[in-house]
Amino acid sequence: ALDAPFHNEADTDWSLTHNVRWIRGRVDELRNAPPAFVPLQIAGQTVNGSAEEAGNDPSRPGIVAYRHALAGPEQVEQALVAAVDARSVWKDLGWQGRGELLCKAAASIAANRREAIAAMVLDAGKSVMEADAELSEAIDFADYYARSFSKDEDFDGLSSEPLGTVLVTPPWNFPYAIPCGGILAALVAGNTVILKPAPETVLTAWVMVNALWDAGIPREVLQFLPCPDNEIGRSLVTDLRIGAVVLTGAYETARMFLSWNPQMRLFAETSGKNSLVITAAADPDLAVKDLVKSAFGHSGQKCSAASLAIVEAEVYDDPGFRRQLRDAAASLKVGPSWEYDSIATPVIREPGDALQRALTTLDPGEEWLLEPQMVDGNPCLWSPGIKLGVAPDGWYRRTECFGPVLGLIRADHLKHAIRIQNDSQFGLTGGIHSLDPAELDQWREQVEVGNAYINRPITGAIVQRQPFGGWKRSCFGPGAKAGGPNYVALFATWKNDRAPH
Ligand code: GLU
Repeated sequence: ALDAPFHNEADTDWSLTHNVRWIRGRVDELRNAPPAFVPLQIAGQTVNGSAEEAGNDPSRPGIVAYRHALAGPEQVEQALVAAVDARSVWKDLGWQGRGELLCKAAASIAANRREAIAAMVLDAGKSVMEADAELSEAIDFADYYARSFSKDEDFDGLSSEPLGTVLVTPPWNFPYAIPCGGILAALVAGNTVILKPAPETVLTAWVMVNALWDAGIPREVLQFLPCPDNEIGRSLVTDLRIGAVVLTGAYETARMFLSWNPQMRLFAETSGKNSLVITAAADPDLAVKDLVKSAFGHSGQKCSAASLAIVEAEVYDDPGFRRQLRDAAASLKVGPSWEYDSIATPVIREPGDALQRALTTLDPGEEWLLEPQMVDGNPCLWSPGIKLGVAPDGWYRRTECFGPVLGLIRADHLKHAIRIQNDSQFGLTGGIHSLDPAELDQWREQVEVGNAYINRPITGAIVQRQPFGGWKRSCFGPGAKAGGPNYVALFATWKNDRAPH
């Protein structure tokens, strides 16, 4: 209930064999079942849509893992009308009532853990352990946003008003937690929501919205609308009945949305090119462990992932450090996501131009410390790659590749390393490994990122403890961070209707 204090949810303990058996059973069942069909859901009704599309499993490209409906112009209009119709009842429920429903949603998501992990393993190619952590984050979003704002409902002379209807357009790499967080923040502030799930992960999104509806969130306030990324999607994004758009995705997508409608209220968390600095004062064992986790977790497909390590010369030149880093990355288990201990799982689709180039080509001055290989004849499955000799202004340093590649840059000293780290158009996450407090002070003061991590991996932000969001081209809008104190307030506007005479 709302009056209990917030706490972070714990992940599953995979050292217990019954937990491993529990997840394996469902993952295998889902993989071997006939493909499910995912419909649209508008105004509380299941709708078939105007087209149908196959959903993929990147562990088995070419196999139809499930099928889903796609909205046409008619369903887009129906969803907009339904979302507008549902506004007043939802708003009248008040903060308290909506907050209580979010608490119930947290419990419902927790009860949904097994189904949700299995769905993510299937459509996102996520490892069991990464999917499990994502579930904990979704529960945290629900519990945290439930408590975010209700106490501040009324200020002197001001009352809060919802924006109206919010469109949530999430990515496929966090197919459960990111849409869930956007939806719940918008809902608790009194808005109705249209979810346009990522085309790659419609199944997971469907499992998620069902957990929310099961918790008692009215179906009428949350429309489920898979929709193609063409003029139909554009008509939804630019419709004037949409009060705000929540996007997590590429910088170019945010720019495209704004080019369609410069007036749009857009809250977007976009691209990154994140790096971890390792100084001569680092504990090398810890640094290697956190670097490997940050670079290769979910095969590097996180906005937060480390794609560069900027290493002080003394460490960079040390053959012991190089061997340790190479061995740590080479020992990660590469495999399909349904094998519960796979770490280097498939990338979402056959590599596009940038990732293909990063995986197969060296620029002048670069050499492989560990050369990536395609595994099992699956064009989506690659073993981790590490490049030495990356130039601070070269192609790889500038390009977000979103895959299992890490590049190393040699820096003369900490000041040089910070200069390289900050010389980026993006500013999402960044880290340092050093045990020298003076170095840490200097770095903390100077680094230009939204999430600055010290002696810790640079992925895996925890709700409330590490509110998540970037600087520079990693962010559009006012920059309130997901899982942080001002996020829900983005979704409200204020009315001065109680001014004293
Ligand atoms: N919040 C995630 C993390 O801290 C990253 C989200 C993203 O990739 O957009 O790792």
